[in-house]
Amino acid sequence: MTEKYVYDFNEGKKEMKELLGGKGANLAEMTNLLLPVPPGFTLTTESCNRFFNENKKIWSSLEEEINIHLKALEQATGKKFSDLENPLLVSVRSGAAQSMPGMMDTILNLGLNDHSVIGLAKNTADERFAYDSYRRFIQMFSDVVMEIPKTRFESILENKKAEKGVELDKELSGDDLKSVVEAYKKVYLEEVKEDFPQDPMVQLELAIKAVFTSWNNPRAIFYRNMHEISTLIGTAVNIQAMVFGNKGETSGTGVTFTRNPVNGNNKLFGEFLLNAQGEDVVAGIRTPNDIAVLNDLMPEIYNLLETAANTLEDHYKDMQDIEFTIEKDKLFLLQTRSGKRTAQAAINIAVDLYNEGKITKEEALLRIKPQQLEQLLHPNFDEKAVDQATILAKGLAASPGAASGIICFTPESVEIAFEKGIKSILVRQETSPEDISGMVKAEGILTARGGMTSHAAVVARGMGKCCVAGCSELKVNEVEKRVKYNGGILYEGDLISLDGASGMVYLGEIEKSKATLGGKYDQLMEWVDEVKAMAVRTNADTPEDAKQALEFGAEGIGLVRTEHMFFKEDRISSVRRMILADSVEERMRALNEILPIQKNDFYQIYQVMGELPVTIRLLDPPLHEFMPVKEEDISRLAATMSFSLAALKERIEDLHEVNPMLGHRGVRLGITYPEISRMQARAIMEAALEFKADRNCEIQPEIMIPLISDVKELTYIKAEIEDEIKKVFTEKGETLSYHVGTMIEVPRAALTADKIAEEADFFSFGTNDLTQMGFGFSRDDSGKFISEYMDKGILENGPFDTIDQEGIGQLVEIAIEKGRRIKPNLKVGICGEHGGDPASIEFFQKLGFSYISCSPYRVPIARLAAAQAAI
Ligand code: PEP
Ligand code: MG
Repeated sequence: MTEKYVYDFNEGKKEMKELLGGKGANLAEMTNLLLPVPPGFTLTTESCNRFFNENKKIWSSLEEEINIHLKALEQATGKKFSDLENPLLVSVRSGAAQSMPGMMDTILNLGLNDHSVIGLAKNTADERFAYDSYRRFIQMFSDVVMEIPKTRFESILENKKAEKGVELDKELSGDDLKSVVEAYKKVYLEEVKEDFPQDPMVQLELAIKAVFTSWNNPRAIFYRNMHEISTLIGTAVNIQAMVFGNKGETSGTGVTFTRNPVNGNNKLFGEFLLNAQGEDVVAGIRTPNDIAVLNDLMPEIYNLLETAANTLEDHYKDMQDIEFTIEKDKLFLLQTRSGKRTAQAAINIAVDLYNEGKITKEEALLRIKPQQLEQLLHPNFDEKAVDQATILAKGLAASPGAASGIICFTPESVEIAFEKGIKSILVRQETSPEDISGMVKAEGILTARGGMTSHAAVVARGMGKCCVAGCSELKVNEVEKRVKYNGGILYEGDLISLDGASGMVYLGEIEKSKATLGGKYDQLMEWVDEVKAMAVRTNADTPEDAKQALEFGAEGIGLVRTEHMFFKEDRISSVRRMILADSVEERMRALNEILPIQKNDFYQIYQVMGELPVTIRLLDPPLHEFMPVKEEDISRLAATMSFSLAALKERIEDLHEVNPMLGHRGVRLGITYPEISRMQARAIMEAALEFKADRNCEIQPEIMIPLISDVKELTYIKAEIEDEIKKVFTEKGETLSYHVGTMIEVPRAALTADKIAEEADFFSFGTNDLTQMGFGFSRDDSGKFISEYMDKGILENGPFDTIDQEGIGQLVEIAIEKGRRIKPNLKVGICGEHGGDPASIEFFQKLGFSYISCSPYRVPIARLAAAQAAI
């Protein structure tokens, strides 16, 4: 049996998207629902694939199939190609399984030629209409099939209008348009060196080939690459009998959504134009009317449209985006698809559809892309304003949000601007912990270097602050205070805007529209909590972050990075003295200064979190990060210590490591300076005991040790901590239950997790370091080449954004399996950046994680993703 490559609309159904494309499958579905769809047929995506395999030729059996379907179409419409009385005209449109901008879109009025135009004029008794249709066809065909610039045709039409002293196309007469058609044909001849094809079969074949070929045009390929679409085999081609919206004032064309795609309101939302063809609505030449006006002008048609919209929505159980045409008081539907919508609309529609009994809670939850929630949490730029803005560069969309402000190259200048009430953007080569004060006070952060887990990105996300990182097109010169972009130079004080959700950097200030939570969001999140299996915690280092995360629904803290506390002004000098101390005594003196401050930090966090679990991690980063860099800061520090400036410099130099991320950090600090770990353990427990007494509630602190690679490290440090805690209990005459767990973030720890489980009360995967060490990719520097890896198809996703299931994921799986072999109920969490990434969350659910932890602003996203993963 020969293969079937062509399907009549009544032979398909909506489930055949892969074969018929989205448009074709839905046209078939609408036909079978007996909705008013002009008849037609679809060439399958497989035929596109074979077209490419056969050197872009149409093979004879396909030609035969097309002929058979054309005959049937002629019969169904009672019209004939090239007929002098009643000619058949068709539209030709592409349609892949997924909607794909960039491919050839639409040709209307195909079938018109010097003969049939006369037939059309006669049949419609409207010469003007016939020649207007013909000139549109020539222009569209020339543009999309032959790639002749539109401007060549537009100028002819403009000249004609000028010659006739009229403003609008419709004021031109049939004779005027006849001469326009002749001029158009001349342009075609000049450009193609052939006459405009008169045979409709030739027109059709050229159009089909053009649609097929457009599957592989650079724009479509770019779009597929950008959206990681690699599975599709080609585009389908839809050939459909024409209906005309340009047959006078009882005709028209438009687009309607079954509900409002901005806010979700359950009311038709759309636009239409009377006496117009499809492209007029989108072309923006004439301003379309609101769909509500149709109710006034043609109430019967409006009712029919509303009924059809309801039928389609009930059938698809989702909001639809419908194209329609009215031909002489008769309604036709030309397309339906699931409508694009804002996050707010997505939520409102999903909840409403459930309340209307059309979908289940689970289906409602699956309707919303978790990432979409980001839109709700941060104010966004006004879309129209963005369209008009000048783009400076594009970096990594590190932390969502929209920020405008003056460029400041140092945290100090941010602070000065802040004092004056001026909004600023901190622009840095990359940020370091020293920049925190500036980061807090800036509206947004822009860095030229660093990846998605760079300091700037992680801290910004934690703060819910907009950040574009790794924007390597920009050349930032912090010393000379200027930034070079492709097209010019900007200086400190110049205004720029950042879109942290897209990574775009714009010139000047852009208007914002603030989104608010509430309404149906709360309802949806209630369902999320009913459905999800994993708990969602947050990574938070301050009471403010913790509070924000609680508002977003966090169920605990999965990671307090205590080092962030060390940078605060009231203690940094004690921290520095602790690090630089020459003797244990000197170190103890500094630690004793830090202890009450740390204790207060923890107390405040407990106050926010109440009885919810809080995991506090002991000091992790390499010590040199705490040292001052600027000469004046070093001198100031020297003055407070018994060091000469030169000796201090030497000491700082000593702390320098060639490879600090693999150096003296994590548990290794505790092993060399157990007194630091003891101080932190004491602060954690003293604060907890006080809190317990003050609030009369149960609290079980979780102490977490970073960067373990061997169980003996854990055994050692745990003994130190427990000894200190025992002392605290004795001194206070009270006890408290607590847990000591570990991060699993070094590959060796994952592989020896059974031994580690003997000592650890819980595991928390530090997938940032695990990815760094598993791949051997530096967290801070790999941004420079990872994008190239993705462009070349070596990596599918950034491994610091979405967990690499095959490699790093295997380490995680092994560790869980080994850990739970020893302790079947071992609590297992994740606190790396992947804890806020929906694709990774799905994987963590499969591996049996107890909880995930992410920055406060990703908590709602993680909750929804966790619920979806559990469905
Ligand atoms: C990690 O490594 O994944 C982690 C959470 O720790 P940090 O990012 O602080 O190194
Ligand atoms: Mg880590």
